[in-house]
Amino acid sequence: MDAALEILDPIVLDKAYAYFVPSGGNEAVSLWPRDNILRQCISILVVTQIGATMLYLVFSALSYYFVYDRRLEYHPRFLKNQVRQEIVSSLSAIPFINLLTFPIFLAEVRGKSLLYSRIDDYGWSWLVTSAVIFMISNDVMIYWIHRLEHHPSVYKYIHKPHHKWIVPTPFAALAFHPLDGFVQSLPYHVFIFICPVNKYLYLMLFGLVQIWTIFIHDGDMISGHWLEKFINSPAHHTLHHMYFTVNYGQYFTWADAYWGSHRAPRPDLDPLHEALRVMKEKGLVDDQGNCVSQKKHE
Ligand SMILES: [Zn+2]
Ligand SMILES: [Zn+2]
Repeated sequence: MDAALEILDPIVLDKAYAYFVPSGGNEAVSLWPRDNILRQCISILVVTQIGATMLYLVFSALSYYFVYDRRLEYHPRFLKNQVRQEIVSSLSAIPFINLLTFPIFLAEVRGKSLLYSRIDDYGWSWLVTSAVIFMISNDVMIYWIHRLEHHPSVYKYIHKPHHKWIVPTPFAALAFHPLDGFVQSLPYHVFIFICPVNKYLYLMLFGLVQIWTIFIHDGDMISGHWLEKFINSPAHHTLHHMYFTVNYGQYFTWADAYWGSHRAPRPDLDPLHEALRVMKEKGLVDDQGNCVSQKKHE
């Protein structure tokens, strides 16, 4: 958030505050300087709300229209108006997740974290090392947070809303109970108060995980790729939504493999088979899964 405000202040926020809260003498300058705490609070709330909503809508829509196989919508477990429900659920969760995260963002902007600006402060080797530690430690933390959320004593209160979607679409990426979305992002926020991280690297990694969360909900069951051994792919997360107690990971599979919850994606587990069976029954596809109406036009 520190880096985001640093980038946005000269581009748009300085002008906006000069317009809405002008200083008496000079209209081009705001009464609130960049380090004014009230200004920082408003900036954080506005930037997180607009940023998270835009990121969610743009990348979910791209994934839905260009990657997601919409034949999955014929799956018997696909809900009526599911896409709409996922979008409503995500858009209603975003402001509350932002509010819960707000004190952490404010502490970060007020310079309480260990974020730093100049790469030279810690050197290039630390830049790379910190990125690796960041990814690995967060993966373990998020694995355990997610796994504990499946414990029967808390599951129905926090995590169940996200498992309403047995066959999710990319729009389910933020369709969480707000507390669920917040606790799963907590390791990212806490990390920068424990370990020094370059703030631009942090902004990139933070953006990346939002996009990754959308990406693993695209239902793509391509399997057999060597990377699938190490990367928690959309196929893995599809199986998590179908079987609940497997593949809790975020970026990598090793935590699931080590703690015995890994389920390798196999072509026969693909929910598309069931969707195609329904489509065939309805006469929408032939035995090979090709669209019947398209064939007539050929
Ligand atoms: Zn999910
Ligand atoms: Zn889960």
